[in-house]
Amino acid sequence: MEPYTVCSPAQCAGCMACVDVCPKSAIRISDSVEHMDALIDGSLCIRCGQCHQVCQVNHPADFRRTIESWQGWASPDIREGSSSGGFASAIMRAFVAGGGTVASCRLEDGDFRFALARTQEELEGFAGSKYAKSNPSGIYRSVVRELEDGSTVLFIGLPCQVSAIRNFVGRRKSGALLERLYTIDLICHGTPSIKILQQTLRDYSYDLNDVGRIWFRRNTEFGLCTDFRRLVPGGCTDAYTMAFLGGICYTRNCHSCRYATGERVGDLTLGDSWGTNFTDEESDGISLALVQTQKGRELLDMAGLKLREVDYANAVANNRQLRHPTEVTPERGKFFSFYERTGSVRKAVLAVWPKRAMKQRVKEVLVRIGLISEGGVAHLCDWPRFG
Ligand SMILES: Cc1cc2nc3c(=O)[nH]c(=O)nc-3n(C[C@H](O)[C@H](O)[C@H](O)COP(=O)(O)OP(=O)(O)OC[C@H]3O[C@@H](n4cnc5c(N)ncnc54)[C@H](O)[C@@H]3O)c2cc1C
Ligand code: SF4
Ligand code: SF4
Ligand code: SF4
Repeated sequence: MEPYTVCSPAQCAGCMACVDVCPKSAIRISDSVEHMDALIDGSLCIRCGQCHQVCQVNHPADFRRTIESWQGWASPDIREGSSSGGFASAIMRAFVAGGGTVASCRLEDGDFRFALARTQEELEGFAGSKYAKSNPSGIYRSVVRELEDGSTVLFIGLPCQVSAIRNFVGRRKSGALLERLYTIDLICHGTPSIKILQQTLRDYSYDLNDVGRIWFRRNTEFGLCTDFRRLVPGGCTDAYTMAFLGGICYTRNCHSCRYATGERVGDLTLGDSWGTNFTDEESDGISLALVQTQKGRELLDMAGLKLREVDYANAVANNRQLRHPTEVTPERGKFFSFYERTGSVRKAVLAVWPKRAMKQRVKEVLVRIGLISEGGVAHLCDWPRFG
């Protein structure tokens, strides 16, 4: 018998909106690593239909066209702690300073959980791209409560999550609540299950539950770094970064993602300004900002950001995720089949790209035993630019 699922089998994005809305706690997310499903327990379900109503996979997305596009970077202190130009952090700070509430995610007990922040201190941990599925469970209800209390809320997340919060508020509550909801969606390459990250850390003798902070990149330099310690020395590439940038470890639904397009679901879209004319600034990270609505414009204005003109066509040409989802390659199938067999991300990456992975391991060993310096191999990093 087919499992009773909220959306089509294996197409779930794990956005958790259905879990939040269910009055009977009848929904459980099954994560097979290769794909996800929201499974309904038929013995608890009262057929109220609310889960189907909020699920963004079950409805056409409410896309808006970009009316303005900009690039730039925030002040040095903000940019330093951010993933690209720091626009998201600058806007979060300004939003909270103006009395609003921000909803976004940070590492907590081995998972990237969403939380509300009403003060500058509570924004701690939000900065930085987390290249894995984040967990918005509980945030939809919290945002609605906050809006009902009269606050303005800024939700920052992946496009599928932004689409979900807009459904959650807009389809079930009054339009007045939606007016106080501001949204920023990130341009998105795809996301792996959190289990892939947890296993990678175990492969390198770490435990994500014990990690206080984790970085996936620093501006244009990619590589996993936990509590200020890189998993592999500078200039070498860890197995997670290889699998993520190579697009072989995302859940199945991400490869047909409807949000990988020039039309966007957020009031404002943020990403990297690749192929920019500000080449001197590129290594410190440059944000790309696509404005879809007046609210999106307000967000940029309130942060007092210096905006630079960007050639929109060039930005799109240099950012695949504004044109189409990441393609499925034969390597993806091989990765999951080896992962299932060995339970190791490192071994699965080695099986997919034996020469590249072996080269990274040799470099790693040579740096560790002091035969070459970290700086000496930095230029050897042979991974494609993310875009
Ligand atoms: C999975 C993923 C894939 C991406 N793919 C691309 C891409 O292909 N092309 C491109 O141009 N840009 C991509 N980005 C966006 C880019 O990495 C930066 O996040 C974006 O440019 C914002 O940078 P910033 O310096 O303004 O943000 P920061 O100041 O560093 O703040 C980042 C904000 O994003 C939120 N965030 C980070 N990770 C997640 C997550 N997993 N789920 C929900 N919210 C999150 C944080 O909580 C914070 O609010 C991706 C981001 C993610 C998380
Ligand atoms: S139909 Fe209603 S009760 Fe049943 S799983 Fe969906 S939200 Fe829960
Ligand atoms: S609402 Fe989100 S978690 Fe639930 S089935 Fe749809 S995509 Fe999956
Ligand atoms: S690729 Fe699409 S479905 Fe996958 S995490 Fe990104 S926005 Fe969500």
